Amino acid sequence: MSENETQVEVIILGSGTSSGVPMIGCHCEVCTSTDPRDQRTRPSIWVSMGEQRILVDTSPELRLQCVAHRIDHLDAVLYTHHHADHVLGLDDLRRYNWLTQDAVPCYANERTVQSLERMFSYAFEADPYSPHSRPNLVLRTIDSRPFRVGEQTIIPIPLIHGQLPVLGFRFGRFAYCTDCSLIPDESLALLEDLDVLVLDALRRTPHPAHFNLEQAVEMAHRIDARQTYFTHITHELGHAETNKALPDGMALAHDGLRLIV
Ligand SMILES: [Zn+2]
Ligand SMILES: [Zn+2]
Ligand SMILES: [Zn+2]
Repeated sequence: MSENETQVEVIILGSGTSSGVPMIGCHCEVCTSTDPRDQRTRPSIWVSMGEQRILVDTSPELRLQCVAHRIDHLDAVLYTHHHADHVLGLDDLRRYNWLTQDAVPCYANERTVQSLERMFSYAFEADPYSPHSRPNLVLRTIDSRPFRVGEQTIIPIPLIHGQLPVLGFRFGRFAYCTDCSLIPDESLALLEDLDVLVLDALRRTPHPAHFNLEQAVEMAHRIDARQTYFTHITHELGHAETNKALPDGMALAHDGLRLIV
């Protein structure tokens, strides 16, 4: 079976921006909404593809996300980039070390690998005094070439996030492109013929490092996946109200959204 025919199951673990929604100290309509879809943890997804169970990013709420959605097994972690909202849950990967009695392989580009080694130096430096209280991770550097996790091929999608080159990922006919303000033409070619796209759409107001909703809708039309979900959302966008005004085939993602692609 080719990768494009492999069924992919996805759970949006976190659909929120870096501050999460509700935000500390904000009592706006969305931050106080009783609609559970307005409660957004930091950005992460879980993907099941063939025999592989893959987490994209380790958000600060990793433990809560994995308990809530019964993520009992992990074969690999992929990192989009090193920003705090995408990496600060890394220590919680220890639990998967205990469950599998093995290291967790983590795939990231060179800049992200260097940042992870610096930010979480305790995890990567030998420490004879606390050998059991740190995550056991194997960092694998990737570039823009497709790579394999087990028997599955994953295609990195180079994206620009403000000035920073980051990665999206394509799994068969599903792609995840969070944290971007520009998608180069060569990357658009990698996003053809998608059933489902998850794309950054921060808020209505423009931002130097993220698509706002208007730009994301325009980009979604260009990419033309059958269905596009927007993620990395601030408190500016109430779920129900925003969804009503979106074009057919587009919707806001929400925490816990499950997709079969
Ligand atoms: Zn608010
Ligand atoms: Zn970022
Ligand atoms: Zn982010």
